[in-house]
Amino acid sequence: MFVSKLFLPTMREVPGDAVVVSHQLMLRAGLIRKVAAGIYNYLPLGFRVIQKISAIIEQEMDQAGAQELLMPMVQPADLWKESGRYSEYGPELLRFKDRKDTDFCLGPTHEEVICALVRDNVKSYKNLPLTLYQIQTKFRDEVRPRFGLMRGREFIMKDAYSFCVDKKSQDQVYQDMWDAYHRIFKRCGLKFRAVRAATGSIGGDMSHEFQVLAQSGEDAIASCEACGYAANVELAHIATPKEKERRQEGALLEVDTRGHHSVDEQAKILGVGKERIIKTLVYEIDDVLCLVLVRGNQEVSEVKLKEALKADIVQLAPDKKVADEIGPIGFIGPVNTGIRVVADNDLKNELNMFAGANKVGCHWSGVDVLRDIDPEFFDIRQAQAQDPCPECRAPFNILRGIEVGHIFYLGTKYSKAMSATVQNEHGENIVMEMGCYGIGVGRTAAAAIEQNHDDKGIIWPVAIAPYHVHLVSLGVDKEVSDEAHKIYENLSNAGVEVLYDDRDERAGVKLNDADLIGCPLRITLGKRGIKNRELEVLPRAEHSQGVKILSLDSDYVGQIKAMLDQAKGQSLC
Ligand code: ATP
Ligand code: MG
Repeated sequence: MFVSKLFLPTMREVPGDAVVVSHQLMLRAGLIRKVAAGIYNYLPLGFRVIQKISAIIEQEMDQAGAQELLMPMVQPADLWKESGRYSEYGPELLRFKDRKDTDFCLGPTHEEVICALVRDNVKSYKNLPLTLYQIQTKFRDEVRPRFGLMRGREFIMKDAYSFCVDKKSQDQVYQDMWDAYHRIFKRCGLKFRAVRAATGSIGGDMSHEFQVLAQSGEDAIASCEACGYAANVELAHIATPKEKERRQEGALLEVDTRGHHSVDEQAKILGVGKERIIKTLVYEIDDVLCLVLVRGNQEVSEVKLKEALKADIVQLAPDKKVADEIGPIGFIGPVNTGIRVVADNDLKNELNMFAGANKVGCHWSGVDVLRDIDPEFFDIRQAQAQDPCPECRAPFNILRGIEVGHIFYLGTKYSKAMSATVQNEHGENIVMEMGCYGIGVGRTAAAAIEQNHDDKGIIWPVAIAPYHVHLVSLGVDKEVSDEAHKIYENLSNAGVEVLYDDRDERAGVKLNDADLIGCPLRITLGKRGIKNRELEVLPRAEHSQGVKILSLDSDYVGQIKAMLDQAKGQSLC
């Protein structure tokens, strides 16, 4: 492709709402343009990246035995009513009516549509296991669309769904998808981890997220380097603390904390660390008030709380209700309230703690958790660095990640609600076991940039780069441009994808654009090159010391192909 002909609107100044690097670079390098909040045009260079990632996904899905189809984005509400999600899904589901006043929605995911399709067309276990997938546009009316393609409202997803006759067979498909996901992200040249995760609004019995490791990631992962355990911090289990000897020294005493409403302020005025203060949060657990306790330096995980209490709905109680029924906000505590109290395991052996006294400006000191509160104990806090791994007790590291894929063991959640049954080998009707498997295609492109860039621009992994080579001719000399054309032809004929900057622009402008766009190899040719019969090749990932000089009279095509293979190999290690 000739840059002079390419629709490539680069940008110098990016808008203020582009705060993460991938969003800024995608705008600057002319990959995307915003249409509305969370809705984007994919420009030719950006769309090539999307297509490259899609092709890798398709190859690996096919390899894993899945079949590609395409379902509609517009879905009838009736299907969502059958699964029960029409009311449950919340405002992310964009609902609308057609001219006949029939309810529809824009698909944020396709469990309902595919479940109906398979239910109506597959009748026998002999046709199972069946895994179907599509690469298609989704719509989720996210509250805060942000970070460009990372969290859009309209975005491209690969979603696969499996149907099996029993758990054993579904376990196998889950494993096959797990393996395929590892191959996909490895081939995309990304550093990632598969971690245990919450099932969220998709539901089901078990799930794993594939997290691309990057400082800017919105997710935090608790990772044990000793045994390999890894889970999203909102779900990571934490080993129960060892029993300690109990020696409570004092009785409960009121202390003055007037004017200090936050744990930070209270720790300061009391002259203790935040971990000595019991943080009391008031939750409505399936509509019943409950006090939830963690240390002042810890956070409650609502995912773990919900799971521990086997609750359907877990939400913080409104401030007004707390103030009316328990005490003043900022001074809430768990001693003698008559309300159910659950505490994190970490508080089990604690003595001489501080806790709100349910009176303005007042805390208790000398709190003995067992003697003065006697709560129910569960593992309900978010994991932090140094927390002990549940499998080997080694301390966790906390890594930041971008969730690019998510696989779910759904069980019979949808198939039961929608009566998706088949006959088994004994002629009995059984409900199919299901799994579903998503990959954010645009988010994967964004994550690749988050992980691979420098202050000049993007550094694409070879497998998903828009072009392999950025060929820059310097100056307007005819000899130079004739030779550059020849190089372009030779490389293209050998299957190398070349972006050829043939514009009549200053060298500085062209080289800056090449750095910004980030193709894996940059080839430059100027007058000096013609004179010496040589061209300069610089891998984008390397500084100018990495320049290789190749003779124009040698098999430079073969050498360039070898360099690309080598770069590809390196990103696969
Ligand atoms: P998140 O927790 O980031 O909101 P999710 O868990 O709701 O995502 P899934 O339902 O698991 O998302 O969707 C499968 C994949 O689709 C995700 O792993 C992610 O890569 C992608 N994805 C989800 N929401 C978005 C979005 N708003 N913009 C871009 N990609 C998304
Ligand atoms: Mg997810």
